[in-house]
Amino acid sequence: MAEFTMELNDEQKEVRDWLHGFAADVIRPAAAEWDEREETPWPVIQEAAKVGIYSLDFYAQQYFDPTGLGIPMAMEELFWGDAGIALSIVGTGLAAVGVLANGTEEQIGTWIPQMYGDQNDVKVAAFCSSEPDAGSDVASLRTRAVYDEAKDEWVINGTKTWATNGGIANVHVVVAVVDPELGSKGHASFIIPPNTPGLAQGQKFKKHGIRASHTAEVILDNVRVPGSCLLGGKEKLDERLARAREKARQGGERVKNAAMATFEASRPAVGAMAVGTARAAYEVALDYAKTREQFGRPIIDNQGVAFQLADMRTQIDAARLLVWRASWMAINGRPFTAAEGSMSKLFASETAKKVTAQAIQILGGNGYTREYPVERMHRDAAIYTIFEGTSEIQRLVIARTLSGMPIR
Ligand SMILES: Cc1cc2nc3c(=O)[nH]c(=O)nc-3n(C[C@H](O)[C@H](O)[C@H](O)COP(=O)(O)OP(=O)(O)OC[C@H]3O[C@@H](n4cnc5c(N)ncnc54)[C@H](O)[C@@H]3O)c2cc1C
Repeated sequence: MAEFTMELNDEQKEVRDWLHGFAADVIRPAAAEWDEREETPWPVIQEAAKVGIYSLDFYAQQYFDPTGLGIPMAMEELFWGDAGIALSIVGTGLAAVGVLANGTEEQIGTWIPQMYGDQNDVKVAAFCSSEPDAGSDVASLRTRAVYDEAKDEWVINGTKTWATNGGIANVHVVVAVVDPELGSKGHASFIIPPNTPGLAQGQKFKKHGIRASHTAEVILDNVRVPGSCLLGGKEKLDERLARAREKARQGGERVKNAAMATFEASRPAVGAMAVGTARAAYEVALDYAKTREQFGRPIIDNQGVAFQLADMRTQIDAARLLVWRASWMAINGRPFTAAEGSMSKLFASETAKKVTAQAIQILGGNGYTREYPVERMHRDAAIYTIFEGTSEIQRLVIARTLSGMPIR
């Protein structure tokens, strides 16, 4: 097990500086344009693919870094550049993790490369769990997958919503109900291969922030996929379902709300994205406060401004420490006995919202305009307290974990 460390090693520092260069030179200058266009920034993703940032190799290298700091370091730098563009770059990785975590070796080898495409023909992937009536309450999913034994095919029907890259993805990963009696234990994940008939994009959402990231409904109308598209395979699913039925018969384990568990491992990564956005806004505000003069002196000469910056930086550093701790615990298989993953996401996302709002205040009228980036950063930051489990759900997870009580 790697020791917990608060310092990146030399190799990680090198990667961080390389990512920072890409974020500063390629992502940040493109941010305002793609925010206004509200479209996937394909040229930036292509550029990221060319240099090796948009690739399975890069993502896997960070994901399996034994110190646990690879992913948080990478997320912080890319999202420091711009949250919408960065989400377009890492969104595929989030879908790929679903396959890495649950898929067989053959499924991993077949589908993950198709999620990324190649440098000359870049593709993206989508992870589709949320539905119009199943957001926080993931256990109430309605999308149904039924096995057609004669053809060894699954038939999937339902409507997914809020899917990042939904409808424009080459490969979609869809969570569906295979046994409605079992709540979230009766769910399974399926690969929907490229160009499968019956899958269509529904409404594309016009959003408050992260507007360079495509978010849409995905409609599944009698989508047929081969048996090999069930992640983990049928045998494993049947065993899992049999165990869950047995437990349900014994009246044992309460069927948990899946939102409490599904995203636990990816929560520190979202916390790291929030740290990146918060740090970006703080840096703009610090520079501005040192150069903007009122009453014949820089505004940072006023404690009222300087103390805000002191609080902003303190909270950002505290958020990063929680994120790094949770990431280290996750990669080293330490159980989150105090819901440390949720803690890191809760604190970092609330920090990003607060810090970006303070940055607008410090920039005054300029902060409120699109001439300066903090207005965009504040709009972007609002997503962190919503996706991958809202702040309220994180508090629920933490409180339940600490108390062992079924707090509602
Ligand atoms: C831009 C964007 C991208 C997204 N990307 C994806 C994606 O790629 N794939 C995917 O599957 N999903 C994605 N999501 C969905 C996201 O995870 C959900 O929006 C989120 O889980 C919240 O669900 P909801 O929007 O239905 O809100 P609801 O669950 O309806 O919640 C509404 C409010 O009620 C509160 N609330 C609900 N239950 C409780 C409770 N028990 N106690 C206290 N408060 C409660 C919530 O905290 C929230 O404030 C994305 C969402 C957005 C906005």
